[in-house]
Amino acid sequence: MSLLQIKDLGKSYNSNSKVLDGLNFEVKSGEFLSIIGPSGAGKSTLLRCINRMVEIDEGHIIFNGQDVGGLNKKELRKLRTNIGMIFQHYNLVPRLSVIENVLHGRFGYKTTFQGIMGRYTEQGKEHAFFLLKKLGIEEHAYKRCDQLSGGQQQRVGIARSLIQEPKIVLCDEPIASLDPNASKVIMDHLKSITQELGITCIVNLHQVDIAKDYSDRIIGLNKGGIVFDGPSYRLHRNQ
Ligand code: ADP
Ligand code: ADP
Repeated sequence: MSLLQIKDLGKSYNSNSKVLDGLNFEVKSGEFLSIIGPSGAGKSTLLRCINRMVEIDEGHIIFNGQDVGGLNKKELRKLRTNIGMIFQHYNLVPRLSVIENVLHGRFGYKTTFQGIMGRYTEQGKEHAFFLLKKLGIEEHAYKRCDQLSGGQQQRVGIARSLIQEPKIVLCDEPIASLDPNASKVIMDHLKSITQELGITCIVNLHQVDIAKDYSDRIIGLNKGGIVFDGPSYRLHRNQ
C-alpha cells in the first residue's frame, strides 16, 4: 500500500501563478525517492505541503490513510510526529549541544538548558545515543553544534529527525551547503540509516548525478509539473 498519495495537488502563493499544478504520484513505504529540478521548480513547496507547513490549495495529500488537508491542530501535531524534516541549513540551535538538539526532536522546544535536559527520559537519551553512534558522531554529543563542521551538523539534523521514529523523512536540499566529500557522507548515512530502520525518504536535490547514485526512483519537477517519474536508471545524466 502507498504511504503517501498526492492527488491533483495545486498550490499558489498568490492568485496569479501556480507553483504546483496538477501533481499526481504515490510513494510506497520504504522507498528512497529523489525529487530533482531547477531552483524555483516547486520542490520545497511540495515538501512543505506534505506536512502542512503551507496550506494546500487544490487536490489532496493522503498520508498513512489520512487526508492531510482536513486535519485540525491536534491532528496536525500527531501527523508531524510521523514526518521528520531535514533542512539545507540544518536548523539546529547553535549554542546547544548535539545531544540537546537531538532530544529537541522528540521532547519539544524549551528555551532553557534545564528545560530540555529536564524533560527527556533515559530511554530517549539512549535512543539519541544509538542514532549518534550509527551516524558516527557520538563522540561529539556534548559539544555545541556551532563547533561542528557542516557535514557533522547535518548528521545531527538526521538524528533529530529520526528520534521521533517517523514513518517518512522529507529532506529539503540536505547537501546544498556541503562540499562534495561531506555531501557523499551525508547521502551514504541518509540512505543506510533510513533503509535499516525501514523509513521512507524523499530528498530534494538539484544534482542529477547524486540522485541517480542513491535513489530507487526519481521525480523530475519543472515549473510545478512532473516532467519525469521513473526508476533512476531510466534518467540520463545529461537530462
Ligand atoms: P524549489 O525548492 O524547487 O527551489 P520553491 O518551492 O522554493 O522551489 O519555489 C517555487 C516558487 O514559489 C518560486 O517561484 C518561489 O519564488 C515561490 N515561493 C516559494 N515560497 C514562497 C512564498 N513563501 N511566498 C511566495 N512565493 C514563494
Ligand atoms: P530555498 O531555495 O531553500 O527554497 P529560497 O531562497 O527559495 O530558499 O526561500 C527562502 C524563503 O523565502 C522560504 O521560506 C520561501 O518560502 C521564501 N520565499 C521564496 N520565494 C519567495 C517569494 N517569491 N516571495 C516570498 N517568499 C519567498
